[in-house]
Amino acid sequence: MTGLKQIIHIYYKEMGKLTELKPFSSLIDTLQNEPSISIDIVKQCLYNIDNQQNLNAFVRTYDEEALATAAQVTHKLHQQKAGKLAGMVVGIKDLLCYQDHPVQASSKILEGFVSQFSATCVQRLVDEDAIIIGHQNCDEFGMGSSNENSAFGPVRNAIDTTRVPGGSSGGSAVAVQADMCHVALGTDTGGSVRQPAAFCGIIGLKPTYSRISRHGMIAYASSFDTIGIFAKDIRDCATVLEVVAGADTFDSTVSKQPVPHYSDYLTFGKKAKIAYLKETLAYTGLQDEIRLHTTATMDALKQAGHQVEAIDFPLLEYVLPTYYVLTTAEASANLARLDGVRYGYRSPSAHTIEELYTKTRSEGFGQEVQRRILLGAFVLGANHYEDCYIKAKKIRRLIKDKLQAILSDYDFILLPTTPSTAFKIGFNAHDPLAMYWADVYTTLASVAGLPAISIPNGTDHQNLPIGLQIIANSFEETHLLGFANYIMQLPKKI
Ligand code: GLN
Repeated sequence: MTGLKQIIHIYYKEMGKLTELKPFSSLIDTLQNEPSISIDIVKQCLYNIDNQQNLNAFVRTYDEEALATAAQVTHKLHQQKAGKLAGMVVGIKDLLCYQDHPVQASSKILEGFVSQFSATCVQRLVDEDAIIIGHQNCDEFGMGSSNENSAFGPVRNAIDTTRVPGGSSGGSAVAVQADMCHVALGTDTGGSVRQPAAFCGIIGLKPTYSRISRHGMIAYASSFDTIGIFAKDIRDCATVLEVVAGADTFDSTVSKQPVPHYSDYLTFGKKAKIAYLKETLAYTGLQDEIRLHTTATMDALKQAGHQVEAIDFPLLEYVLPTYYVLTTAEASANLARLDGVRYGYRSPSAHTIEELYTKTRSEGFGQEVQRRILLGAFVLGANHYEDCYIKAKKIRRLIKDKLQAILSDYDFILLPTTPSTAFKIGFNAHDPLAMYWADVYTTLASVAGLPAISIPNGTDHQNLPIGLQIIANSFEETHLLGFANYIMQLPKKI
């Protein structure tokens, strides 16, 4: 045990147990009156991380640095010069660059790589005095739905350690679930924030595509990649969104729309018009208890005077194939630069330039990433470009238009986040298609670039969390967060 770890252990010895982390939003006054508690909070997080190493949520922690930042934050609070996130402890997925810190996308191929700059979202957190506690485990390059595809080994769900936390941002979800940090930044290309949030019983927000700059996020599928937020507390989630969102000169695709003060709008006063897609509830792979909890919430909404209506959405069966054709195509292009020439891992046994490429990529990338690169090269190849790639792009447009039409008439679309609750580690490991179906409900908002949130919505008979997903129109995060907060407090009969 290092000196630092020992100090933290002595500090918490009397408690002899893991300690519950209070939401950041509830600590703001206390922090103003007693600034040094920011140091205690960091110690508490480090203690919780250290005592739950079996969960494998972090790939690197920045213990001493986080404590040093907490000391600076204390000083700034005393002087009343602190930023709006002073004292908030944040973890970041291992796909987000943090200047002078390693980042690996949980892959062997980026071994030894150190970021020369911080992702815009990370920099904005730091500028507001958040305390970055470490990089979190994930599926390699964000490809996976269970966090089993990591060079650092699988992450375990804190509710049942024989089960997956979901993926790809599994480490980030578990870190929030198990009180290792207040908030975590993940990335959501096809569900990687919402699905693990559902499996872990917390809140996971994927904002509108382009709401948050992607600068400094290691790319998977650039026309889908979105930075997302995990929290237990909706106000913490809203506060972080208003800090990280908005225009950025480093990302030409990011929206210049003004960023609302989301945390001021967490109530929902009006009567909502809500659609649900018949096909989502009719899907035979949907676990009965999830169907039951989803309909119970809809019934409670009706009881409370909201309008809930069924809509036909026959395109649902095309969503997942469209997503996997387009994302593998984009991934194969994005990952082409990882070849052992410029940075990261280089195969030690290569003798020719061709061997340098092939051996580095075969040894450096895991199996799932290789599968995606091959699939992507296939759909982009001259023989399949028209009937796979171009066709998928056209279907993406149809799906977007149809959802847009629904959302011009309705305020929200409600659907389950996942077809099942958290499955056992190894359960889908040898069946990539079964694993891909775990994303059937989350890829919908991703294909259309719409904002979506997963909120806790009861548990199944094994006490495993169930997630409910709410989709809103583009840039309607204010309503989305307000309505999510409203539903979480709505009494339900089940
Ligand atoms: N599970 C999906 C995939 O593997 C989503 C991943 C993500 O959102 N990064 O592509």
